[in-house]
Amino acid sequence: MRLVTRPIVLTAALVVAAIAAPFAQQRTEPAARPQAVAQATASPSLFVIISIDQMRGDYVTRYGHQWTRGLRRLIDGGARFTRTVYPYFNTVTCAGHATIGTGTFPGTHGMVLNQWFDRTASGTTNCTDDTTVTPLIYGDGPAPAKSNSGARLLVPTFADEMRAQASPAPRVAAVSLKARSAIGLAGHGGDVVLWYDSGRFLSSTAFSPTRTPFVDAYTTQHPIRADFGRTWTKSLPDAAYLFEDEGLGEKLVGRTQSFPYQMTGRNNAVDASFYTSWEYSPLADEYVGALAMESVRALKLGQEAPRRDVLAVSFSVLDLIGHAYGPRSHEVQDVLVRLDATIGRLLETLDAEVGRGRYVVGLTGDHGVSPIPEQMSALGIDAGRISLPAVRTAVDQALVPFFGDGKYVASVLYTDLYFLPGVWDRLRAAPEAMTAVLDAIRGVAGVSAVYRSDELEARRGSGDPVATAMAVGFFAGRSGDILIAPRSYWISSTSVATHGTMYEYDARVPLIFYGAPFAPGEYTAAATPADLVKTLAHVAGITLPRADGRVRGEALVSQIPVPAGR
Ligand SMILES: [Zn+2]
Repeated sequence: MRLVTRPIVLTAALVVAAIAAPFAQQRTEPAARPQAVAQATASPSLFVIISIDQMRGDYVTRYGHQWTRGLRRLIDGGARFTRTVYPYFNTVTCAGHATIGTGTFPGTHGMVLNQWFDRTASGTTNCTDDTTVTPLIYGDGPAPAKSNSGARLLVPTFADEMRAQASPAPRVAAVSLKARSAIGLAGHGGDVVLWYDSGRFLSSTAFSPTRTPFVDAYTTQHPIRADFGRTWTKSLPDAAYLFEDEGLGEKLVGRTQSFPYQMTGRNNAVDASFYTSWEYSPLADEYVGALAMESVRALKLGQEAPRRDVLAVSFSVLDLIGHAYGPRSHEVQDVLVRLDATIGRLLETLDAEVGRGRYVVGLTGDHGVSPIPEQMSALGIDAGRISLPAVRTAVDQALVPFFGDGKYVASVLYTDLYFLPGVWDRLRAAPEAMTAVLDAIRGVAGVSAVYRSDELEARRGSGDPVATAMAVGFFAGRSGDILIAPRSYWISSTSVATHGTMYEYDARVPLIFYGAPFAPGEYTAAATPADLVKTLAHVAGITLPRADGRVRGEALVSQIPVPAGR
């Protein structure tokens, strides 16, 4: 055994099994199985949404042979849509989770980016910022400067609609490291909605008036600082990992760059750097999984029929690690092996507490991730980094002959450029200045195309797939004035690897439905993550009024009867 700490590692027997396991068998779409039809006649009592942050669709085929537990169970036993792609350009966490939670796209739900330039407040706002609610703190330390809610999410989630339409009223729990992930899945309410911040978990009065006793008890009995001194080592033998360790460009500032990773922080103390080490390790996903399992037990989710409940979990560590080490790293592969075990424990808890066949799971990702550009360049493929300060400078300089010396750009958030108040209207009235600005951005290394926000709608469906994807993700007043499409494998310079475009590495994710209503197998019809809750809503017998997704009827074993009175 390589790992010396808590049993987040595979047993020796399972390691052997993991190495020996063949790739998942490819199956054609099967006919409905008789016993599954029989089970499906009862409506599920728990709807589980699992999001894996930055989960590329091709990880299933590239690394899936290393998984033996929960992910393996969902892949082998679920209905898997292998051509699931976000149809919008801005593939980031807040947009993705709002899409998963509501079954709509950013042009409908309004969560266009993680942060956008708020033209009214003349500053950058996070998608879940809300100064009207109060933080609820599970642990030590000062109150955070900002609190969070779903106030900016403009349509109800599946969980919101279950609260509105199901009777008896469901219980809803959502857990993630990130506020935008937990809230994107939960929406505008819920019994327990938790996210992580600086060494403790938080919620806000948007979800409950006071702290929830069982979360207080759990976090007190299992303080994160108890993980101080633990070590993250590889869970599989070296030979089991694809690609090279310490690949070109992998870097996490302030940290050693290869296994083992010590949870001791920079100063050998329980301080901010320890908590960062912890957050960038599989221990953080395990903790999120443990809070989800505790919610199942404490709220008796799925266990008090005829009540039907919702559990949403978003695992974030893959995203943090992927940004720092890239999609070919041993770190990413190990996070997935350990997440496979964490999801396995969650499913086993659901088996024990709710019962096999009594719950359904929908699993997807909020976006993928680019390769590290330097690794692509080393292979002779065009790749690089777009300098966002260079974009800003190019625009300001292009406007000097028209508007005089000055600053005109408020913010450049990767693909979205925002002008200072009044500038955009002046530009629209000055065609030569507009042309100069667009040409200047096109001249920045790595830029493929530039779009005026006021022309996107007319270009939707015009045969330009980039313009169409940008229109699907566009929300007037929140999106940028000018939208910038990078060339493929060119990313903004702010991370080792990142996401946020419509290229397949960013846009393609898994989509798996698991449980009695679904016929296991591989489905090759085009799908989007908005189909997840649209399909769960169909199984639950409720309506999502604004859904952009569609019911994946081909994966249902039969019509699901909705019990009378619910
Ligand atoms: Zn990310």
